[in-house]
Amino acid sequence: MPSVYIKTYGCQMNERDSEAVASQLVAKGYTLAPSEAAADVILLNTCSVRDLAEQKALRKMENVIAETRRRSPDVVLGFMGCVAQSRGRELIDRLPDVDLVLGTQKFHRAAGYLDDLLAGRRDKVVDVEAEPGSEAAIREHLLGGNAAKSVTAFVSIMQGCNQHCTFCIVPQTRGEERSRGIPDIVAECRELVARGVREITLLGQIVTSYGRRELPEQEGKSAFVQLLEAVSDIQGLERLRFTSPHPKGYGDDLVEAYARLPKLVESAHIPVQSGSDRILKLMHRGYTRARFLGLIEKLRRAQPGIGLSTDFIVGFPGETDADFEDTLSLLREAEFDQGFVFKYSGRRDTPAAQMPDPLPQTVKEERNQRLLELVNTTGARQHQKFVGRQVQILVEGPSKKNPSRLTGRTRCNKIVVFEGSERHHRQLMDVKVTRAGSFTLYGDPAILDEEG
Ligand code: SF4
Repeated sequence: MPSVYIKTYGCQMNERDSEAVASQLVAKGYTLAPSEAAADVILLNTCSVRDLAEQKALRKMENVIAETRRRSPDVVLGFMGCVAQSRGRELIDRLPDVDLVLGTQKFHRAAGYLDDLLAGRRDKVVDVEAEPGSEAAIREHLLGGNAAKSVTAFVSIMQGCNQHCTFCIVPQTRGEERSRGIPDIVAECRELVARGVREITLLGQIVTSYGRRELPEQEGKSAFVQLLEAVSDIQGLERLRFTSPHPKGYGDDLVEAYARLPKLVESAHIPVQSGSDRILKLMHRGYTRARFLGLIEKLRRAQPGIGLSTDFIVGFPGETDADFEDTLSLLREAEFDQGFVFKYSGRRDTPAAQMPDPLPQTVKEERNQRLLELVNTTGARQHQKFVGRQVQILVEGPSKKNPSRLTGRTRCNKIVVFEGSERHHRQLMDVKVTRAGSFTLYGDPAILDEEG
């Protein structure tokens, strides 16, 4: 049977989509190739959220074509995901060696199309049409692969976004919000738990909008909170997370759920993007700085130990020094545990790309650097508070940087690295934190053993 190699760019949604495609292909008898050089099919799952990511995927495909076509004219080459969706047939016009262009509502069609291409029944396939019901098609997890061995798993609960932030291309690449039903999601989560998964992260572009058109509120609880309750009820599941929410979607019912649902971990990644009301308005974010800070306060009141992270965009068109100072001061006030900083990148056909006063790259670079430094010092201060404390972690496996060590996560989403052994794998266990870096804690289970 043919072998496939999938390279994924971008966010966790893309990782999840790639896993579902790989799983679908494995079920049809394909094998997973360890590298491009060994593959009969090479698929790039692309991201268009920043221009850099898009260019990277295009360059990668040019390199793949140069390498592969020398080796074999029969290797099938395909683009999937956001760049495929936004560029469609243009990709084949530009790179005629590409055989398959598969949009974001078509991942479940990959196996059928690849069969046709490999058998010579079709020469090229471009499918980027909208497909009702496709939001429920991302449900397979790799049998015998990561999900089976892994103690954590991601579950896609919805696709698309209707928020239309002026900088964001997602509503175009992922389409309108479409949510899966609660019973379908719960069934997938149950299956994962039965296979040994102990922590589930519910995924979507704007999870706080989950089901808001299809499922009415019940007893003051939004569809998303109803979903959290239903997944929480699964026996054997230890921890529940979600990403990404929108600050606007954090109603009191969701804040209150943190205090009420024991499996919902004390952790939230809430993208703020800017600390300036003027820029938030230009971004069409739908909240003010004061409302955002009020939300942070409410969350800390509901769960004092909650770990908070965020995303920032620097260099949005027209961002003045004063606007940028507002972002710095918001970070100081909110004391996030972690922040991800992105330089604004104009995306085709988004309102922000047409806005006046684009900022020079040097200004974006300088602001990026200053904000990163503050993110690092704030993060280090927050992490330092854990030194000497005992924390519960779920052990995920070998550390990426140093595979001889193990890594786990606290409920508040801090990474803890420690010298462990096979018996610690997949365990929920306590470790004592001995030191802290900016974004990593270092622990020692032995100290705890001695004390215990
Ligand atoms: S809420 Fe998120 S995904 Fe939706 S438009 Fe805004 S940034 Fe993009």
